[in-house]
Amino acid sequence: MSTRSNIRIQSGNRKFQIYRHWDGYPEGVVPDLQEFFAWNKGRNDDLSYTIANFFYFFKRSAEENEVEQRKEDKKIEEITGPSWKNPTHLSGILTGYGIVEAQDPEPETWIEWFYVADLDERTITCYEIGRTDPLVCEHAELVFHSKHPLVAPEKRLLANGIAVVGNKFEVPSKTTPGQTYTVTLEPAHCNCAGFKYRKTCSHLKAAIAASGEAVAQ
Ligand SMILES: [Zn+2]
Repeated sequence: MSTRSNIRIQSGNRKFQIYRHWDGYPEGVVPDLQEFFAWNKGRNDDLSYTIANFFYFFKRSAEENEVEQRKEDKKIEEITGPSWKNPTHLSGILTGYGIVEAQDPEPETWIEWFYVADLDERTITCYEIGRTDPLVCEHAELVFHSKHPLVAPEKRLLANGIAVVGNKFEVPSKTTPGQTYTVTLEPAHCNCAGFKYRKTCSHLKAAIAASGEAVAQ
């Protein structure tokens, strides 16, 4: 299903805006953007290169997806030369993304979502069209109270099934499989019930131990 969106990438007083035809809801766009900006690392402070790299990254991904799909469907024909130079063979990569004028969406626009990736603030902000937020965009409203980081913090696995994302530890419950508790070390906190009363818990201790081992490695 097509869910149309616009993605603005800006730095200083310069901005470019991109049309995306497919999967324009935040669950589709934000992880894609974070993956792109992680890949574009080292050039995220350069708007011109970042815009060019954006199209390379997503067109290239579309090409690889289409080739994979055609292989699965056994529709891959014998062709000479690089497959991407045959536009009828890979028609999908000719659409999907476009450049549009950088302007705030109008209420009667046919896009449903609007994103602003700010290279200076290193944030991605999501707006749903048809709502109102005069601070940033006259006809769109901030959907999420917290902005997304430009690049998602990497999840690292430590000992005993403990994972760390940014400064947050995910500690598995010993009694309920699949349940995890979120622990921070500074300030020392866990979202389990026991921590509320005792100001400490086994999850906090496990996170401290795991972080010490991580540093020692
Ligand atoms: Zn706890």
